[in-house]
Amino acid sequence: MTTIEQMLATAEGDPHSDSWDQLFEQVCHVGISEQDRTLLISRLPAIAARHRADDRDNIMLLAGRIAADVDEATWPRFSEEWETLQSLAGNWLDSPADPGLFLHRLQAASALEGDELWGAELHRIDERELEIECPHCGTELLVVFGEAGHFATYGDYATKPSAEKTPLTPVDPAHLDGAGRRLYQTSLRAGQTSVAASLTYLFGRAECPECNTDFRVSDQVFRY
Ligand SMILES: [Zn+2]
Repeated sequence: MTTIEQMLATAEGDPHSDSWDQLFEQVCHVGISEQDRTLLISRLPAIAARHRADDRDNIMLLAGRIAADVDEATWPRFSEEWETLQSLAGNWLDSPADPGLFLHRLQAASALEGDELWGAELHRIDERELEIECPHCGTELLVVFGEAGHFATYGDYATKPSAEKTPLTPVDPAHLDGAGRRLYQTSLRAGQTSVAASLTYLFGRAECPECNTDFRVSDQVFRY
């Protein structure tokens, strides 16, 4: 039995077991073998199905984390598993969660649908502050959409009140398409209006305070 198999054996009966944290640690920071990854992808759908929707967080978030790192060539090998996990994601996303947890659920669900970008990077809007580069002049910008306001700036705006700020323009939800539309509608359906509002800034437009170039914020988010 590998370490991963042992952890999974302890974890599968209790969706809130500490063994899930250990599995996350292995998958995210230590790294796992090809065989262990195959084992997890093949076992997680049945384990998730055995538990209630609102008890599935550890299982589904782990599955999403693994899915985000599966390359295109390997992806079809697990098409049945992804399909099962996608269908289990439905009422899991709709079950009660605070906005922070919901955003991680939404990211995992995106990963399970094969969305390589938002399946890995969506959590970056959690802090209501996104670091991106201007597509024209390359200045490192901070896009802020939270209690501090809705603007693009650079440098340390918190300590320098004089820092130049340009207002953000949220997208009209009716004009969303592709991933933006899917993420927005899933958030609304789950009653997560604050996440939906953040998404209108993520998929909205910003103006670089340095060179005045206007661009779509989401176009400047790249996979780490
Ligand atoms: Zn610029």
